[in-house]
Amino acid sequence: MRKKIAILGGTFNPVHNGHLRLALDLVQQVGFDEMRLVPCHIPTHRATPDVDSVCRAKMVELGIAGNPSLQMDDRELVRGSTSYSVDTLIQLRDEYGADCSLSLVMGLDAYLGLTRWHRWRELLQLAHLLVIDRPGYQLPAVGELAEFDARHRADVEVLALAPAGAVTHLNIRALDISATEIRALTAAGQSTRYLLPESVRRYIAEQQLYRARD
Ligand code: ATP
Repeated sequence: MRKKIAILGGTFNPVHNGHLRLALDLVQQVGFDEMRLVPCHIPTHRATPDVDSVCRAKMVELGIAGNPSLQMDDRELVRGSTSYSVDTLIQLRDEYGADCSLSLVMGLDAYLGLTRWHRWRELLQLAHLLVIDRPGYQLPAVGELAEFDARHRADVEVLALAPAGAVTHLNIRALDISATEIRALTAAGQSTRYLLPESVRRYIAEQQLYRARD
């Protein structure tokens, strides 16, 4: 059987139950052998977060603690340069070999910006793209992304049949939680309870992250 590895990249500023439940649902429903959460070091499509990558990775570690089906992968921190998904996939392909099925997981919000990613057309040579519907986002009917999507779209079964090359859309539950909302609630002095793991909430309080500045 071909090994199936999933990669969920993000800023994780902070990691929340939307990410974690998605990761677990994917393991259970698609049957990934590994689910790797990869915090980015220096993002390319957004401002560099105020919270550094070591703290963001620490929060991922705290969030997944006790769940052996999820792993924190710090390769983008170790590389220490701008975090390009194409470089991460090249490294993973090298480590896992040509036969292994690699899936780069992203929410539809992230997928909508795909054509602005560094060397984005090479991504499918290295992995499948697994796109998760997210409340409030829609794929455009026309344009470069719509054409790319239509050309490469396949059912989820393809993940076991080929090592890379397809775009799969999964209508898997996406909790309507965002890191933006968590940062805003924290800055406003309001509770973030039930949106993210308690261990991560404690870390945020201890480190005084996301507080409003005078
Ligand atoms: P922000 O609000 O700061 O933009 P975010 O909550 O979208 O952050 P990211 O770290 O940017 O979190 O997301 C990492 C990946 O997880 C992206 O592909 C994003 O689409 C996906 N994702 C984020 N939140 C959810 C969610 N609630 N359900 C499903 N996927 C999510």
